[in-house]
Amino acid sequence: MPERRAMAPKNYTFTCIECKQSKMLVLEENDVRRWNKGEKIQEVFPQLTLSDRELMISNICGDCFDEMFADEQGKTDGVEP
Ligand SMILES: [Zn+2]
Repeated sequence: MPERRAMAPKNYTFTCIECKQSKMLVLEENDVRRWNKGEKIQEVFPQLTLSDRELMISNICGDCFDEMFADEQGKTDGVEP
């Protein structure tokens, strides 16, 4: 008898609080539960990109995250005063 794991992929939509763009990710409900319980996101979702994880953790997409970091490093990148 073949062993079947109880897989339950679901659609999760995460919206960036900065640019309001939303992105849908298909995740295992069990994995999301593990993550909510405090497991490290990179161990629960090793398949996701850094941007996706950032969006899940802080509700900020990769683009906005980059901008925030660029901000911290000073506003000297090609922007004329
Ligand atoms: Zn954004």
